[in-house]
Amino acid sequence: SGLTKHFRVHGGLLRRKPQVVHAVDDVNFEINAGETLGLVGESGCGKSTVGRLVVRLIEPSAGSVRLNGQELCDLDGRALRARRRQCQFIFQDPYGSLNPRMRVADIIAEPMAIEASLSAAERAERVTELLHLVGLPEHAAQKYPHEFSGGQRQRICIARALSLNPRFIVCDEPVSALDVSVQAQVVNLMRKLQRDLGLSYLFISHDLSVVRHIADRVAVMYLGKLVEIATKRQLYANPSHPYTRALLAAVPEPDPQSRTQPVELAGDIPSPIDPPKGCRFHTRCPLAFDRCRVEEPVLRETTDGHAAACHLSSP
Ligand code: SF4
Ligand code: MG
Repeated sequence: SGLTKHFRVHGGLLRRKPQVVHAVDDVNFEINAGETLGLVGESGCGKSTVGRLVVRLIEPSAGSVRLNGQELCDLDGRALRARRRQCQFIFQDPYGSLNPRMRVADIIAEPMAIEASLSAAERAERVTELLHLVGLPEHAAQKYPHEFSGGQRQRICIARALSLNPRFIVCDEPVSALDVSVQAQVVNLMRKLQRDLGLSYLFISHDLSVVRHIADRVAVMYLGKLVEIATKRQLYANPSHPYTRALLAAVPEPDPQSRTQPVELAGDIPSPIDPPKGCRFHTRCPLAFDRCRVEEPVLRETTDGHAAACHLSSP
């Protein structure tokens, strides 16, 4: 709640004063046990930063992250490490996130070596179990990352993320680097693991058709702010925020049952340094009116479980 991340950047040659990047501004959401929240938006909107803040890979400028009611931002040292075992992270790039000089067995066992007091034999047994869970053969353990395809490497990353029995996993564009034909296999694996292990996911993606396959609820971010959050059904069939409608209109197969008028997106996302006043979307919103340029809309619930930050949906 109230999650905020501001970075300072320096003005460069012109020796201007340091400027502040509003990467994430007052973002609030919950993820229930066993649930997937999809987090979508264009690149640069702050969604990856939210993912990193939630597991404290980076420190928030303000706000709070609670896991099962316990504040993570107050913890440090051992208490933080113990809590962190329950939260893992899967990165976009299955090529860059695996050490090419390590065997798969050691990659998967690495978190266990640091965190848990298991014997070598117990670790090897757990590696076999994890390979089986992600659909890789036992002999994969002795190979190196370059011997695998992109989809198989992402399975290795998933096995590593599961090694400490987490409850919650942040998945940052986990299938974006993969061929479309392989994306569905990895997404289906993640859904199966979620059901079998009772995992919760924050699933970050710019791709609304991928999110549709895995999310229970979807949150939409624009320029550091959450602009809409709803169940998947509500969001895809009846999107409320003009930005969400624009994103959905750009998806190859928009929902034939959608009852809303499509919105066309003009221009690029503005800089998060000095973001537009009022509604941050007003510079690109075809429906913007005077009030949008001066008053910032609040994220407000319109129907049960469906909230949007737009003056048109909350007069
Ligand atoms: Fe568009 Fe105004 Fe709504 Fe912002 S508040 S999304 S500018 S109509
Ligand atoms: Mg990103």
